[in-house]
Amino acid sequence: MATIPWLVDVLRAAGVQVVVEGDWLNRMRPGSFDPIGVLWHHTASTSSASNPHPALGICINGRSDLPGPLCQALVDYNGVFHVISAGRCNHAGVSGGSGPIPAGDGNTLMIGWEIDYNGVNQEMTAAQYNASLAATAAVLTRLGRDSSYARGHRETSTTGKIDPSFIDLNVMRADVAARMAGGGTAWSSTVDNTTSGRFTASANWGVSSYSSQRYGADYRYADPVAASDVAWYRFNVPATANYRVEAWWPANSGYNSAAPYIVATSTGNQTVRVDQRATGGQWRILGTFTLPAGDANRVGVSRWSNATGLVVADAVRLTRV
Ligand SMILES: [Zn+2]
Repeated sequence: MATIPWLVDVLRAAGVQVVVEGDWLNRMRPGSFDPIGVLWHHTASTSSASNPHPALGICINGRSDLPGPLCQALVDYNGVFHVISAGRCNHAGVSGGSGPIPAGDGNTLMIGWEIDYNGVNQEMTAAQYNASLAATAAVLTRLGRDSSYARGHRETSTTGKIDPSFIDLNVMRADVAARMAGGGTAWSSTVDNTTSGRFTASANWGVSSYSSQRYGADYRYADPVAASDVAWYRFNVPATANYRVEAWWPANSGYNSAAPYIVATSTGNQTVRVDQRATGGQWRILGTFTLPAGDANRVGVSRWSNATGLVVADAVRLTRV
């Protein structure tokens, strides 16, 4: 049985913060291990700054129905990699096949990161995402594989797993590819309508938790009018550069078919209209724009639509490209 005793060194060389959890070189499941890819998970535990790795003990020791270790590394709230095992772990179950990962024994085929967030009303932190990107890029480079060998458990699972929630796995692979090409640190930031100090809307925008496709606890909505009345998302953009702008909305047949998103670029405002009747509950790319450095309102949702149906403002994400 192969092991990956190089894991800690490869992670540290990639700038990832590592905590070695005890006898990681000898803690593993019996059986074959010959990994060709990396699998992302979420733990379904609620992490926080004061409780950054609530699932660590379970990932080391396992559960009554599944013996540990349950992953090669757990990624805590702050993006620190807790390395648990250099060998086979019970994280993937049976692979149904996804991309270049064949159907078969997922625990043989893949190295697993358990990213510690609950995945229901908590997304992974920016620190978790950025560290997981760096670690995945470094490990795939070590394995001699490209970014297509990074998968999410919901892609390989044969039992309906949903993890990792709140990320677009194609975007994740593109971000891994950029890292592997020497693209430097991928900055990404998400602002939800509930993010403190970063979202502003007039009282004309109601609050709703009606749609289960919402991002986080709730979202804002308003009737279309021939006036702007913009709901703004404020970002602290680190440098004047190109950023991918994505929006998340819950979709409903009663929502607006031409909801205007405004992007405040380095050369003025640009408007992108989206159909909020469809493709809800996921990140949708509005485009790539040059944004100026600084902390300011960068993306907004306007009410100024000639189409009928409620205009919805939920979450917006920027990623440096
Ligand atoms: Zn999983």
